[in-house]
Amino acid sequence: MTDTQYQYIDGEWTDGDGNELVVRNPASPDETVVSFPAATGAQATRALAAADEASGAWGASTPDERETVLYDAADRVEANLDRLAETLTLEEGKPISSSRGEVARAAEILRFFASYTRTATGDTVPSTDPETFTYTVREPLGVVSLITPWNFPIATPTWKVAAALASGNAVVLKPSSETPTIAKRLVEILAAAGVPDGALSLVVGPGSTVGDELITDERVDGISFTGSTGTGTHISTTAAERGVPVQTEMGGKNPQVVLPDADIDAAADAAVAGAFGLTGQACTATSRLLVHEAVADRVTEAVVDRAESLSVGPGMADPDMGPAVSADQDETNFEYVSIAREEGATLLTGGGRPAEPESGYFIEPTVVTDVESSMRIAQEEVFGPVLSIIEVADFDEAIRVANDVAFGLSASVFTADMARWREFVDRIEAGVIKVNGTTSGSQIQMPFGGMKASSSETAKELGQRAYEFYTHEKSVYRTDP
Ligand code: NAD
Repeated sequence: MTDTQYQYIDGEWTDGDGNELVVRNPASPDETVVSFPAATGAQATRALAAADEASGAWGASTPDERETVLYDAADRVEANLDRLAETLTLEEGKPISSSRGEVARAAEILRFFASYTRTATGDTVPSTDPETFTYTVREPLGVVSLITPWNFPIATPTWKVAAALASGNAVVLKPSSETPTIAKRLVEILAAAGVPDGALSLVVGPGSTVGDELITDERVDGISFTGSTGTGTHISTTAAERGVPVQTEMGGKNPQVVLPDADIDAAADAAVAGAFGLTGQACTATSRLLVHEAVADRVTEAVVDRAESLSVGPGMADPDMGPAVSADQDETNFEYVSIAREEGATLLTGGGRPAEPESGYFIEPTVVTDVESSMRIAQEEVFGPVLSIIEVADFDEAIRVANDVAFGLSASVFTADMARWREFVDRIEAGVIKVNGTTSGSQIQMPFGGMKASSSETAKELGQRAYEFYTHEKSVYRTDP
């Protein structure tokens, strides 16, 4: 394998047949991290053919065979943690300590799904016929296409690949072209750990060609996608036409509600962590802070103080906040600051480039207030470090505003009142709910996914639900002769 061979098809590392793809360091865009030829649609087709060929044997492998491979891969990820974290930060930009955490999480995910190979079960169901035994069995879908974004560039591919492989599927992975090297390292590790040729392929290239093959080829038995709502909607519509199981995890506009009896310091800490951690580039990032008017001044002051104390800089220097991932995302961040001001919002802090560093896709942590729910800044996903504060008069208004968006991924409430948080859980339209916690973050044994335009809602990721998505269920009625 040479440094420019990013395509892994049927057990061989190979050059792409497509156009040159250049990845730049977002902290220093003049610096090229890597440049290599992208895959073409025809190469994606070859990867799918190899997966089709390999899926029978891998699907028939025993649980302990698959478990051994995944545990070995987890050990290899951990053994290379520092190198992998550096690769991640150079491409995606996040602070090196966050990258280390994400790599460690990838190892944890591999172990979680390794253990699943032995413990996942069907059901024994009571039969109304004494002569007939009724039970369910699960079997792999076959060939699955996995399409991922750049913001958690090892964790997201890992939770899809590990779940799909653990349940016996052959996989073709297409990561984001912004973060291909960390995906390549993951595939190298899984191949070295013993995933057979063809059972795991990697194709790095444009969504319009490579991605398109991965959703339209007739050999594809299942698709799991994480990314923007626009792309995800196109993918689920296309998959639905062929009746292929599809899982899409998409955008968010996540609210954190602060009620008058909340612990104000804890609420401000959570809002700042949720809005500015990972430069706001998390699908579960906090983008709307809905504050009861009785505590609005105190919360706003605490949030602005904290936002202004954050350090911004290159991920390798381990600041509080790194750069945006790309020139496009950088432009989007500044565009939304302008949109918010034009709509009448007040900029409380941030909104500009920090004085240091001199180059790179940096923006100051930004807080805007006097935001109305109908404004674009309150409705559209920025995917950057811009937090909107919206004042609400009471709990009912908080719920109404929280639900007044197309998305429904994650939401949080800060209160000490049990009746209130229970009502919040009942009435909020979100797939992930935090009580006195930040909207971002999740545990791998918990189902993960959203409502409304945030998710297909067919089957969630992680936990038992992931296994359910990657398998068919058969209901068996057995009457012995
Ligand atoms: P994106 O939709 O632009 O790209 C995601 C992936 O889809 C990439 O690999 C891309 O190449 C591929 N793709 C693009 N067009 C395609 C097509 N026509 N057919 C097949 N594949 C195609 O998203 P992004 O900019 O990489 O990521 C940011 C978005 O991801 C944000 O909207 C964010 O909210 C979302 N996201 C959601 C979650 C979640 O779990 N809900 C998690 C992380 C990120």
